[in-house]
Parts: sequence; structure tokens; C-alpha cells
Amino acid sequence: MTDLNQSIVGEPLRPEQRLSALAVSRGIGIGRVVFLHSDKHRHFRIELGPNEVEGELDRLRSAIAETRGQLLKLATDTPSDQPVSDIFGVHLLILEQSSFVQRIEAAISEQRINAEWALKIVTDHYVERQGSTDDEHIREKSLDIKDVANRILSALDGTRPFAPLTYAGSVIAAPELRPSTILELTKVNPAAIITERGGWTSHSSILAREFHLPMISGIKRLEQILSSGASVIVDGMNGELILDPNTETVEHFRAMVSRHTTKTGEGTRPAAVTTADGAEIIIRANIDTPDAYQAGGLRGARGIGLSRSESLIRRSGTVPSEDEQLAAYSQLCQVAGPDGVKIRTFDIGIDQVEDDRSAERNPSLGLRSIRLSLTIPTFFRTQVRAILRAACGNRIDIVLPMITGVEDIIRSRALIDEEREKLEAAGIAVGVPLVGAMIEVPSSVLTAREIAAKVDFLCLGTNDLVQHLLAVDRDNHLVADWYQTLHPAVIRAIAAVLSAAREGGIPVLVCGEMAGSAFYVPLLIGLGARELSMNASSIGQIQDLVSGITLSEAEELVAGIEKLETSEEIERYLRRHYREHWNSLFPPGILDAKHR
Ligand code: PEP
Ligand code: MG
Repeated sequence: MTDLNQSIVGEPLRPEQRLSALAVSRGIGIGRVVFLHSDKHRHFRIELGPNEVEGELDRLRSAIAETRGQLLKLATDTPSDQPVSDIFGVHLLILEQSSFVQRIEAAISEQRINAEWALKIVTDHYVERQGSTDDEHIREKSLDIKDVANRILSALDGTRPFAPLTYAGSVIAAPELRPSTILELTKVNPAAIITERGGWTSHSSILAREFHLPMISGIKRLEQILSSGASVIVDGMNGELILDPNTETVEHFRAMVSRHTTKTGEGTRPAAVTTADGAEIIIRANIDTPDAYQAGGLRGARGIGLSRSESLIRRSGTVPSEDEQLAAYSQLCQVAGPDGVKIRTFDIGIDQVEDDRSAERNPSLGLRSIRLSLTIPTFFRTQVRAILRAACGNRIDIVLPMITGVEDIIRSRALIDEEREKLEAAGIAVGVPLVGAMIEVPSSVLTAREIAAKVDFLCLGTNDLVQHLLAVDRDNHLVADWYQTLHPAVIRAIAAVLSAAREGGIPVLVCGEMAGSAFYVPLLIGLGARELSMNASSIGQIQDLVSGITLSEAEELVAGIEKLETSEEIERYLRRHYREHWNSLFPPGILDAKHR
């Protein structure tokens, strides 16, 4: 739980207003709003001191010089008879001959604001008035202006760190936040986060939960309803945003915060967990970076069951070198101890490593994950070499993401073997990682038996499995009602994968968000799951729950589901069963919340 912002107390000027939202990370945050404007890049308003203006102008000028260099190169590399060379010519004109850059400089000097913000307001100004401006280089060119602005932002990106004083104790509001931005924000300790877009299984929400940052999403037109500095309460327990709360409401929520804070103290827990009738359930932690470990520790988990290695790829899209990755993986091994780490190879889209121009219309079905690794294998080979080296003397396994069938496994294994041979030929010591497949798309569920014969273990990625099985975008709150974890098709798919692995004699680790949610865990155990990997923050409550239930009752629970036809019926059935049999085992509020 984050600190409260004392300055919020006091009678507001407007009456209190409440908006319902999607709660994606539990907790309560009270503070004043700071906007973070972000799609691919983050840009935000910072007021500069009088002697910071010159430095900011220098930052802008070097970003402009870099952008100009890129455009010149693109224009000269493209044959002049192709229309795209004209486009780069137009972009150069905007940069060199229009009033665009002058206006940005003027905004920095006159309003004493940072370059990103000056760029945003000048771009918005031109885009809004593009039809009426006198400047011929800009008239009717809003897409080109946005494109040039994006390039300048890329060049600025990362050259200014977050200003801790602006963000500490504040409520960060943004249309959408990338996971890397959440990671940065955790270092400046905001009170809470509000976004327009994002669902429960979005990576940003997962990270917010991992770092105990209260977060809500699904609030439309944030910029219209909130202004910087507004007082708000983020209720990440019930999914509500309270604008201009009155003193009574603030006090009520403060009291809730202190109750919640005193309850969350966690000690070290036992590593072995068994159900009340003796079935062993292995609990591992989802930990991406050693930083995340610092935040939560392993809390008695049996090693790291999922490390999303793409968190090493910085905002700028730079993939770390082999040695940098070796250091990071070795550090995770230290944290994980003898139970080891499962490193999932980069689960990223082409847009994260190439220029914006490669943007795909449908990135979650595009050149991403293992497909990207097999199509442009340079990054994959580097990563595999780092893992093979880190595996020397350590328990470290490779997990291949978004596998659609055995062919992906055969091709990936061939690359892994090639890299091993090369390292051995060079006399470099390597270990022997096991290789596992993420099962998260329908085709891999239907061929799980064949896949199981080609790998050492399976990982059930329920976040994507629900998305792909039900054809529902997990990041789109507009279709959140169709994202049904308890859909009969999802339950049958999970059962099929668990049984294919059992027949093939290999373990399955359930590592999506379902595995860390108390509401779903008895169901997973009844279906046959014996290994669960979850955010460190869920481990304590799941261990308590598991040790209080019996396997035989969990199996009975599953038997009662077979004839139910909708997720709503299944949810109602589970809730009733839990209340009757295990009411006291569930953390407060869990049985009242919606869990479809
Ligand atoms: C999943 O899809 O369930 C999973 C564990 O991976 P991610 O959330 O990173 O897609
Ligand atoms: Mg996934």
C-alpha cells in the first residue's frame, strides 16, 4: 500500500462524483492526479526551473538533429522514383522549413515546460487547425506531422528520467501504460494508477499487482474528466474512481487503507504445500526481474515458474547483449535457488524491435513470440546462448512462447542445438536446460499430446488461452464481458492439456493469472493441476487456501460443473460451493467479486 498524499484533505470545490471502473490491481490510492500521456512513448508535463530552459532546448535540438539524420538517410536510401521518398521529403520540409520546430522551442522557453510536452501541444495545435493554417508545409498534413512528432519523441525518449517528486504519492492517469513504464513508476512510488485501456490480464495490470500498486482501468475520456492536480480516490477493491472526494469519504478510505496495510504483512512460508488430504501442490513465483524479487521475495515458492524475459528489453527497444542477459539470468538463478528458473524467451511483437513503420494491423496474431524468433533469429540465438551459459551450474529451463504446433518446437530446438554446439566448439561451458512449450492457443491444446512428446514440460498460459480460444482481446476493456475464464470451452481445454501431459508423463505448470486467483485455484486442482506459478503477492493466500481444501472435494467440485453451459452458471455454482464448504478459507471480498 502506498503512502497517502496528505494535501488532498480539505473541502473540494465541486461535489464528489463516482465513476465505475475495472479493478485490475487491488488496493486503495488517494492523491492528486498527474497525467502521463503515452501510447508507444510516454510524454508528460514537467515545469522547468528558470535555469533548466537552455538544457531543455539543447535536448530538443539534439533530438531534432537525430530525427533529421534518420529522415535524410531514409530519403537517400529510397529510390527517387518511389512515392515514399516524397513522403520523407515532406517530413524533412516540416522539420526544416515550417514553423513547427520554432513553435516547440518557443513553448519550451515561454511556458518553461519540457520538450515532450511542448512537442505535444504544438502537434495538437497543428493537427486541430491543419485545414486553416497559413503555413503551406503543414496544411492538410496531420498524419505526416504526427509521424514526425513520433520520431522526435523516439529521439527524446529515455533522455529524461521520471522526476520522483512529481510522481511520489500521486495518482498517475494515462490512456494506456506499457509494462516498462509501470516498472519505472514503481521506483517513484505513486499512490495508484488509472488508465482508459487495459484488462485484468494485461501485462501492465499484472505488474501493478506484483508491485502492490492499486490500479483501475476502463475510464473513458480520462483527459476530459480529470485535470492535473485533481483530488481523487482510486478504489481498486470495488472498481471505482471517486473525483473530488469530500472529507468524510477521504477519511473512510484512509481507515480502509490502514486496515488493509496491517493485514498484508507476510513472513517466510513453508516451501511444501499439501492439500488437507495430502496431495502435493507445487507453487512457484512469476518473477520477471530481480527488482520484482526485491519487492516481494519468493515467499516460500519453489523457484521461479515464469520469468517474462522481454522485461529486459528497454522502452527504446534495445535488446540487451548476451553478456547483459547472462548477468540478468544468473542473478535470477541466485534469487530462485535450487528449484531454478523457467525463462520464457522473448514474447514480443515486431514493433518492439523495429521501426514503427513495420506496424501490423493485428499484432497479437502477427509476427510475434516464437514466430519472430524463428523469422529473425538473431535475438533468439543471443538469448539462447545467454541461457545456455547461465545454465552451467544452475537449474534454468527454456520456455517457448505462443507455440502453435510441433513444427515450432522442432525448429526452435534445432536453433538451440546449433547454439549449444557453437559454444561447446568454442570451449565455453554450458548447462543443459530443459525445454518447455507455452500452451496458449487452441491449436496447441488440440495437439498437446504431440507437443508433449517433443518437450520436457508444458506451461499453460491461461491469459492468452482465454483470449485466443474465445477470440477476445485481453487488453480491450470494451469486450471484458466476453473474456470469460470460466467459459466451458476454457475449462475443457485446460482439462485436455492436463490429461495430455499426464499421458505423456511430463509436468504442466499453470502460469496465467488464473493460477494466482483464489477463486479459480480449487477448480484447477480438481481438474488435475499440480503446479501453479503466480505473482509473489498471491503466494501466501494461495498456500493457505490449498492447505485448507481437500483434493477429493476439489474433484467433486469439478464433477458438478460438467453439465453447466455458461460461465455465469459455473461462477454461481463455484461461489455457492465455496461458501458452503470453505467460506473461511477465502480472503475477504473474493467471494463477493465478479469472477467470470
Ligand atoms: C499467459 O498467456 O497466460 C502467460 C502466462 O503469459 P503472458 O501473460 O505473458 O502472455
Ligand atoms: Mg501468453
